[in-house]
Amino acid sequence: MKDVFGSDRRRITHALKVWQVAREILAEESGSERVVEAAAILHDIGIQEAERRFGSSAGCYQEIEGPPIARRIMQDLGLDEQTIEHVCRIVGSHHSARDIDTPEFRILWDADWMVNIPDAFAGQSKDKLERIINKVFKTKTGKEKAVNLFVKRKERMNMFCYQCEQTAKGRGCTVSGVCGKDPETAALQDLLVYATKGLSMYAHKARELGVRDRDVDVFTTEALFTTITNVNFDPERLRGLLIRAAVLRDQAKRLYEEACREAGRTPETLSGPAVWMPADDLNGLIQQGEEIGIPTRKEALGEDVTGLQELITYGLKGMAAYADHAQILGREDDGVYAFFHEALNFLTETHTAEELTAMALKCGEVNLKVMELLDTANTGAYGHPVPTPVRIEPIRGKAILISGHDLKDLKALLEQTEGKGINVYTHGEMLPAHGYPELKQYKHLVGNYGGAWQDQRKEFDAFPGAILMTTNCIQKPKETYKARIFTTGLVAWPGVIHVPDQQFAPVIEAALEADGFQEDGPDKTILVGFGHNAVLGVADKVIKAVKSGAIRHFFLIGGCDGARSGRNYYTELAKAVPKDCIIMTLACGKYRFNKLEFGDIQGIPRLLDIGQCNDAHSAIQIAAALANAFDTDVNGLPLSMVISWYEQKAVCILLSLLHLGIRNIRLGPTLPAFVTPAVLNVLVEHFNIMPNSTVEEDLAAMLG
Ligand code: SF4
Repeated sequence: MKDVFGSDRRRITHALKVWQVAREILAEESGSERVVEAAAILHDIGIQEAERRFGSSAGCYQEIEGPPIARRIMQDLGLDEQTIEHVCRIVGSHHSARDIDTPEFRILWDADWMVNIPDAFAGQSKDKLERIINKVFKTKTGKEKAVNLFVKRKERMNMFCYQCEQTAKGRGCTVSGVCGKDPETAALQDLLVYATKGLSMYAHKARELGVRDRDVDVFTTEALFTTITNVNFDPERLRGLLIRAAVLRDQAKRLYEEACREAGRTPETLSGPAVWMPADDLNGLIQQGEEIGIPTRKEALGEDVTGLQELITYGLKGMAAYADHAQILGREDDGVYAFFHEALNFLTETHTAEELTAMALKCGEVNLKVMELLDTANTGAYGHPVPTPVRIEPIRGKAILISGHDLKDLKALLEQTEGKGINVYTHGEMLPAHGYPELKQYKHLVGNYGGAWQDQRKEFDAFPGAILMTTNCIQKPKETYKARIFTTGLVAWPGVIHVPDQQFAPVIEAALEADGFQEDGPDKTILVGFGHNAVLGVADKVIKAVKSGAIRHFFLIGGCDGARSGRNYYTELAKAVPKDCIIMTLACGKYRFNKLEFGDIQGIPRLLDIGQCNDAHSAIQIAAALANAFDTDVNGLPLSMVISWYEQKAVCILLSLLHLGIRNIRLGPTLPAFVTPAVLNVLVEHFNIMPNSTVEEDLAAMLG
C-alpha cells in the first residue's frame, strides 16, 4: 500500500485508520479477519490511478481501478485465490455497495464511514448525524459505535467559546464555532489550557527556587499558541499535546521537589490543574475538557472575574504566538518564560478584579518585550525591511502559495524550490516578507496572491498550485483543494497532510502535479516594507512635513481582519482620510484598503505598510520617535489609532498599548464578548477606549 501511495501520506493515514476501526468492529462481529484487514488496507488503492486516468478520484473510477491493483498486491503476498477474489469484490464496490453484501464488506463499509464522518459532516446537528448513521451503517456494532461516538457525545457536549470577534451572536459559540471548531475540539483546547496551567504551577514554584526546564518553557508557548483561533482543529494532534502536557507537568513537579529537597524545604501539595490526569481515550479527554470549561468558572466566579481571567488568557495566547516565532529563530528570553508560568499560575488562584486588571496590563508590558524579541529575530535573520513593490497578479507557471506568519518556513520553502521552476506567492500575513532583503533576493518569490485569510476558501479553490499553511488562519478546506493544501508547525486540520520540520517535498510534488498559472496577469504592484528602520530613516523628512503643515495627522488603521460586514468601516475610513494625512497600517486588516491608490505627500507614501501584526512593535517605535521629536508623549501626537481585532494576538497588542498609557483607541468592529460592561467601564475610565462609530463622526472627532 505504501509503495502505491508513495508520499501520499494522507491516504496512507486514512487506510491505517480504517484498518484500526475495522479491527475494532470485527472484534464484535463475525467475519474473516484476513479479508477484513486486507480490504481495509486496500479499499482506496485505486484512487491515484483513477486520478491519473480520469482526472478524478470519484468513487466510480476508484471502483474500476482499485481491484486490479489490489489483486496484484495480494498475489505478490501469496494470499489464496478465494481471499483475493473476495477482497477485490469489496474494493470494487466500496463506494457504491453495488455488487456485494458479505459480513466482511459491511465491516469495511462501516469502518470507512466511521473515519470519514468527522470530516464529511463537521458541524452537523446531532439529529442529522443520527439520521445519517442510521441510514448508512450496515453492522450493529458499527452503528452503535458511531451513535456513541458522534451523537451521544454531542448530546453531552457543553461548548462555550468567546475568544474571538466572530463569536456567535456577539456572545459566545455554544453549538459549534463560527470558525469551524467543533465542540469536541473546543473541549480539548480548553483542557490543553487547563493542563498547561497545571504544568506552570510547578514550573513557577521551581523557578522561585532557581531551577527551570527549557522543554517545559517551550511547550508552554506552543500549547497556548495551539489554542488560538484558526490554528489547530485536529483532535488527534490535541490528544498528543495533552499527553505531552502531563509528561512535562510531571517533569516540572520532579524539578520542583528536587529543588525543595536541596533547599531543605517540604514541597507544597498542589491541587486543581496540577493534579490533572489525562483520561485514557479521546472521549474521556473531551469530557474532562467540558468539565473545566468557561461556564463552570462563570458559575463559580461570575461574569466579570471570568471575563478578566479570559482577557489575560487570550493575551497570553497571543504573546505565546510571538514568543514561539522568536524562539523558532533562536531568540528567547527567560524573563518571558518566567512570566508565562507566573501568569498561568496566577490564573489558578482567586483574585480581585483590580488584581486581574493589573495582571492583564503586565501581560501587555511583557508582550512589548516579546514583540521586540521577535523584531530582533526577524531583522537579525532576514535584514531590516525596505520599501519594496510587490506584484499582486500571477505569473505563468507552477505555483506554491504560502500563508501564515512564519518567515523561517518561507525561507526554507524558497531554498527547496529554487531552480525547480516553481513560483512562490505569499498570502495573507506573509505579504510583508517581500520587504526583507534575505527573502526578496529569491527571484522565484514572485508576488502576493489573494486577500485576507477569510477569503481563502474561494481563493485557494482558484489557486492552481500547492498551498502551505504556516501558523494560524486555516479554515475548513474545500474538497476541491484538500489534496493540495498542507499544514506545518502548530497548524492542523483533520485529513490535511501535516508536513513536519520544513520537509516540504510533498508540497513541491503537489505544485509540480498541479496545472499552475497558464498566463501572466497584468503588471500591478503594491508597496510594502515600511518597518521602523525604513520609516525612521526618513524621520527628518517626515518631521519637516509635519512642521510645515504638509502632513496634518497620522492614522494607524490596523489589526486583524474578519468576515463581519461591519468591517467595511475600515475601507471607508481609509478612503475618507484627507489627502494631507498619512495612514500607517499593519496586520491583515490592511487588505480592506491596501490595493487602493493613496498617492504621496512630498514623496512620502500616504499609505505606509508597517508589516505583520507583530510589527505593532515598529508602529510603537515610530510613534515614540515622533513623540520625542515633538517633545510630547504618544497621546500628544497628531495620531489616532483605529484598531480592528479578530483573535487573541490582537488582544495582547491592545494590552501592550494600554500598558503604554495610550488613550482614545477606537476598537472594532465590535467589542470583545468577554469584556463585560463593568470591565469596559474601567477601560473607558482609565484609557478612554471606545467602539467605532460612523466614519464621519469618528473622522471629525479624530481630526478635532
Ligand atoms: Fe467561536 Fe471564535 Fe471560539 Fe471559534 S474561536 S469557537 S468562532 S469564539
